[in-house]
Amino acid sequence: MRASSKLISLTHPSLNLSHPTPEPFVWNTLIRAHVQSKPPTHSPISVFNRMRLHGVQPDNRTFPFLLQSFNSIRYLQSGKLFHAQVFLLGFDQDPFVQTSLIHMYSACGDLTLARQVFDESTQRDLPCWNSIIDAYAKVGLVDAARLVFDEMPERNVISWSCMIKAYVMCGGYKEALALFREMQMLDSVRPNEFTMSSILLACGRLGALEHGKWVHAYIDKYGMRVDVVLGTALMNMYAKCGSIERARGVFDSMGSRKDVMAWSSMISGLAMHGHAVESLELFAEMIKSGVRPNAVTFVGVLCACVHGGLVNEGKEYFRRMDDEFSIKPLIQHYGCIVDLYGRAGLISDAWKVVISMPMEPDVLVWGALLSGARMHRDIETSEIALNKLIQLDPTNSAAYVLLSNVYAKMGKWSEVRRVRDLMEERGIKKVPGCSLVEVGGVLHEFFVGDDSHPATREIYMMLDEIMKRLKMRGFVGNTSEALLQLDEEGKELALLFHSEKLALAFCFLKTTPGTPIQIVKNLRICCDCHDAMKMISQEFNREIVIRDCNRFHHFREGLCSCKDYW
Ligand code: ZN
Ligand code: ZN
Repeated sequence: MRASSKLISLTHPSLNLSHPTPEPFVWNTLIRAHVQSKPPTHSPISVFNRMRLHGVQPDNRTFPFLLQSFNSIRYLQSGKLFHAQVFLLGFDQDPFVQTSLIHMYSACGDLTLARQVFDESTQRDLPCWNSIIDAYAKVGLVDAARLVFDEMPERNVISWSCMIKAYVMCGGYKEALALFREMQMLDSVRPNEFTMSSILLACGRLGALEHGKWVHAYIDKYGMRVDVVLGTALMNMYAKCGSIERARGVFDSMGSRKDVMAWSSMISGLAMHGHAVESLELFAEMIKSGVRPNAVTFVGVLCACVHGGLVNEGKEYFRRMDDEFSIKPLIQHYGCIVDLYGRAGLISDAWKVVISMPMEPDVLVWGALLSGARMHRDIETSEIALNKLIQLDPTNSAAYVLLSNVYAKMGKWSEVRRVRDLMEERGIKKVPGCSLVEVGGVLHEFFVGDDSHPATREIYMMLDEIMKRLKMRGFVGNTSEALLQLDEEGKELALLFHSEKLALAFCFLKTTPGTPIQIVKNLRICCDCHDAMKMISQEFNREIVIRDCNRFHHFREGLCSCKDYW
């Protein structure tokens, strides 16, 4: 604001335009000031027009500043007009200007034109190549980005970082790690803080703790500046990889640099790991230290109450959010409250929230209501929630399967048929369960009933042995969640080959007794696997940590940190 108010007036004495024509430099500075001022002030275009009126020739720095102001689809037309000016004034082959044009078209959402500028450029420099990769990355066209990346005559750290980030943003975490390893082989480029943040995100999503620890060591070794952004990325990685203690270590080492994001991440991390009390204590500490919570902080706080089953506390925090901190609850917060009531079996209270919330309930809210209803065997509510879920997201394969199970329980066989037909008609396929483990720094992936791993024979033999020992101790499979069309024996077999059990057997094969085991699963863990893991942790004296799509389960000495509440 300060800069703009000083620079706003073209009649300001410091810019005496009646004097001999000011250099383009002065005008460029003025244009930049208008582009960068927040909120936007006078149109930079009017400055440009004045510049032309005064007979000043723009130079190759003028357009890049100007083009930055065309940053959304509604500026596409003006952007095109300026592209024409660029052409008329003969700057269309200036690499600096070309790069800005590519950025401009990408920001305005016209990738075809961005690519056209790139294709027509005769003197492409590195920033020009990087800008087209960035343009593809932003819209998730990762394969197109990779094609350009592979064609590049030379690459710098920005090229590598952009490409890695492109993979991370579209969920290609393993590809991101592979590319990072490739980058490591080169002497000419060294990763920077930006690269590291992307890689840490990938490690966290994959639950690749060994990789993440290595990245941390690298950051220390090369003395990279662990600012609050990188520090928070490290914390999130450790929390997601199951090591809440290490996350806490990073958090504590950040001292007074912690901002609201750092605090919120730690609060959420503790909540996800089932440390509800510590999470809420940390919230109190945050308030005491004078950092103002935001909406994200309260998602963490309410999440702690949900996972800890703290109904009254949750209600109280929900009230304080608006009363004390003037934060209007968003849909995520309503989702948490529905979850809180639902899990506690207060289904009618959960319904009241769903009906009275000021916005339309979304998939998260209906999903929360559904988990509560399923947990407490409320078939009618399950049916309504599932129908809503399918209506909102017709590709949600799990919802169809659950809904047909619900109708089967109600004995409504024609409805079962209808749902199955609907699934077929819409070409819905079940998302296969998949578990990831990292052993010796290598990631291994298992699908349900998988037989593609080189050690398959040994894995199934080991699993057989483990289950035999559990049966001897009186373990009975929990088949309540298995698919209905299978008979009892079929159900048990289907459960036996769940991906987390295969991953576990693999860890038993490849690690020494007593080594803790970490598994990341893409779906929610089923009751049968949960029961089995509890018993295995006691029987074989192993600590097992499973991250499913909702939370962490720390199995130790026959118990789980979720207290069977998930
Ligand atoms: Zn299972
Ligand atoms: Zn659990």
